[in-house]
Amino acid sequence: MRAVLVGPPGAGKGTQAQILASELSIPKVSTGDIFRANVSGGTELGKKAKEYMDRGDLVPDEVTNAMVKDRLAQDDAATGFLLDGFPRNVPQAETLKGILADLDTTLDVVLELRVDEEEVVKRLSGRRSCPECGRVYHVEYDAPKVAGTCDNEGAELYQREDDREETIRHRLEVYREQTAPLVQFYEAEGLLATIAATGSVEEVTARAKAAIAEKVGS
Ligand code: ADP
Ligand code: AMP
Repeated sequence: MRAVLVGPPGAGKGTQAQILASELSIPKVSTGDIFRANVSGGTELGKKAKEYMDRGDLVPDEVTNAMVKDRLAQDDAATGFLLDGFPRNVPQAETLKGILADLDTTLDVVLELRVDEEEVVKRLSGRRSCPECGRVYHVEYDAPKVAGTCDNEGAELYQREDDREETIRHRLEVYREQTAPLVQFYEAEGLLATIAATGSVEEVTARAKAAIAEKVGS
């Protein structure tokens, strides 16, 4: 299974990718997570990405594309992957097609998660993440067993720098202008499956699994 999740920030891509990747036994490849790990590790890649991430802008394509090419060439991605947060514009989608062609393969499905902007703002302003395992929670909608602490790791949860309201609004503009055109792009490729990303996490997972099964014909 080679799948992409598309949707605005806060749609629940990371939440669903984590669940689906574990059920399908394929790696979740989140470009946002890879960038954040590089920023906190102080690497050259992290230094290049940080200013864009802090503003809520996209990191330049040449930086992002090279990182994804390396990641998808790793052994664990050979039999499949779930991409979360990539591609984020049409040139990245064209690059992905080329990367997969070089590996002699193609995508199976692109799952679009639909949710309105007011819901996204509520979700992002209550989002908390685990610095150890990357699992995301919500203070109200998907709370950890012990407030502020990861269920898996016992680590203290943190709030992302870019989850402040003004940055959230800018990220939504970036989504509308640069990322939303991917929906038409993948529809034209015959790969698109769209679901409502509202309701509980479990309801969205059930919808996602049904939509993927219908698209890939299993
Ligand atoms: P994305 O990866 O698309 O930016 P996340 O998966 O990080 O989105 O989810 C954003 C926030 O919304 C998180 O705090 C998460 O716990 C919460 N969330 C995810 N799915 C749902 C849902 N179905 N209902 C309510 N909140 C959700
Ligand atoms: P995310 O964790 O997906 O919300 O991504 C956080 C930030 O990382 C984004 O706001 C961008 O600055 C950067 N980023 C993640 N994925 C990409 C991508 N495919 N292209 C460019 N920038 C990205």
